[in-house]
Amino acid sequence: MSEPSIFTRILDGEIPSEIIAETENVFAIRDIAPKAPVHLLVIPKTGEYRNVVELAAGDPSLLAEVVGLANTVAAEHADGDFRLVFNTGAGAGQTVFHVHAHVLAGELTEASLG
Ligand code: 5GP
Repeated sequence: MSEPSIFTRILDGEIPSEIIAETENVFAIRDIAPKAPVHLLVIPKTGEYRNVVELAAGDPSLLAEVVGLANTVAAEHADGDFRLVFNTGAGAGQTVFHVHAHVLAGELTEASLG
């Protein structure tokens, strides 16, 4: 079996990070290295999907739950408008292969694109 991802370890309380919101199947944290005034991560609790393509194919309703929690935290932590980014593949900047959505809001710059 593969090693648990950093996000699974956060969810399990092995690595400290405040869970700022959650639903039955999804949770949200602040990014440790923010690239925008508001930079949150919305993550399925299961680590079985490596990226958004696998998630969309395997469990579309879980993807919808990710988008729904992104909307909720964007309303709570920003003015409700946000950019939703799923880096997909190392060549696109993905470093954690446990699917997660970046919620970017506030004054966005080119750096916000990662
Ligand atoms: P990716 O590069 O895979 O799209 O995004 C992974 C994100 O996870 C990065 O933006 C990185 O800053 C964030 N990250 C990595 N390790 C930790 C951590 O231990 N805690 C938190 N809160 N974020 C992390």
